[in-house]
Amino acid sequence: MAKKKFSWADRQLSVEKGFVPLMNKPLSMVLCYPNSYYVAMSSLGFQSMYFHINTHPSVFCDRAVVEDNQPVLGLMTKKPIGNFDIIALSVSYELDYFNIVKMLKKAGINLYRVQRASSDPLIIIGGIAITINPAPLSRLADVFVIGDGEEVINKIIDNYIERKTRSGDDVIEKIAAVDGVYCPSVHGEKSRIKRQVVADLDKYPSQSFVITKNTDFSDKFVIEFQRGCGRRCKFCAADHIYPRPRFRSKDHILEQIEKNLKITKKVGLMGVAVMSHPHINEILNQLIDWGVKSSVSSLRIESINKEILCRLKELGQKSVTLAPETGTDRLRFSINKRFTNELLLEKTHICATLGIREIKLYFMVGLPGETENDITALYELIKECAKFKIVIKAAVNPFIPKPHTPFQLEAMDFKKSLKYKINLLKKLLRTIPCVNLSFSSIKEAYLEGLICRADAQTGENIFLKGGFVNPLRLPEYKQDEKLCFPWDIVDIT
Ligand code: SF4
Repeated sequence: MAKKKFSWADRQLSVEKGFVPLMNKPLSMVLCYPNSYYVAMSSLGFQSMYFHINTHPSVFCDRAVVEDNQPVLGLMTKKPIGNFDIIALSVSYELDYFNIVKMLKKAGINLYRVQRASSDPLIIIGGIAITINPAPLSRLADVFVIGDGEEVINKIIDNYIERKTRSGDDVIEKIAAVDGVYCPSVHGEKSRIKRQVVADLDKYPSQSFVITKNTDFSDKFVIEFQRGCGRRCKFCAADHIYPRPRFRSKDHILEQIEKNLKITKKVGLMGVAVMSHPHINEILNQLIDWGVKSSVSSLRIESINKEILCRLKELGQKSVTLAPETGTDRLRFSINKRFTNELLLEKTHICATLGIREIKLYFMVGLPGETENDITALYELIKECAKFKIVIKAAVNPFIPKPHTPFQLEAMDFKKSLKYKINLLKKLLRTIPCVNLSFSSIKEAYLEGLICRADAQTGENIFLKGGFVNPLRLPEYKQDEKLCFPWDIVDIT
């Protein structure tokens, strides 16, 4: 008998554990992630939205991703995305907009909103990149979700269903009336939409609903502890959009972890302030009692102490991630990151003495006010950390000015200058053993810097016309009676 040939999608599905949606429902939707399956399934936002949409009694939601040499089909249904009623896209990163274009083109869908027929699928886009600035895709999408999407998405679906059953209503007009929704065809390109914030996170679990080895998490159950931060680092758009930290309750976190213990005993705790949870000690103790292997995505420097690290080590944490950003206290304090090199060295020493094998450090180059002294100091700082005989993984990224931050109108450092600084660091750090250095692409950083602050016309030039863009040139922002900048569509007050 001939062996059955499994498709690429079937191979992914065959190793998935956890949530499986009911398919036999009246409305079909596909949630697309404009990147690979691996990246998509490593996104808690994508996973959670997939689950939440499928809890709607009338909707079956499939998933679609971008893979080389693969058609863009629903993973479960194998249907082209153009055959679904609604296409929803979850986007975290501006450079993935190019993949949105790729997905829609492969599906034969017209990129221009105004040229699509009413029989074409409704295109909804959300995610943190969109909440920062939806303008560059405003001539492509029908609907944007601004802010936390959990409460908004089901209202959009309800309005869509109502329109399907009551002919004559204009679906977009109805959807545009939902709080947190931006519909450029109704609101225009100059409007003001309040970003939505889910007050009670427990109502909407955010975790790995589908567990697979083909993710960053690798067969681990990952749960979101909290959203928002409140530290106000001057470069951080996420913090300026969601300035208040919101925590899930201890009971919710433990209940979700316990439910998934039958699938895996590996648990990831995700959030920028996991250790600031008011019941963190009780949660960690319970995880130890359950015999769980666990790790925390990143730690705040002040939360590192012997007691906490011993607990985390007992749970299996092998590395610690910190973000000093700069090499000098002067520059670090100027961007509102308030800790000293001395403190970083003290905490690195504690990690090393307690047997943590690796410390990951995130830095930026090209920050406003940076001098060459800051770069050599960055080298000195890494060198001092490495003296504690611990593996140092240092990631260096160009600073990118983001909307809604105090740096939103800063220029990016010149390419030549960024190259010089990066080469200097490479040369200086080459001699130090146990230091593993990585850099992100300057070209991509420039493109991200352009797209995140782009207006509708620039977005059309780049994505719809596929035109040449000079990332060195920002669109000119003229003051007018209502709006100053393209991202002022998003009201973060
Ligand atoms: S960079 Fe980190 S600590 Fe600073 S505001 Fe953003 S999330 Fe908070």
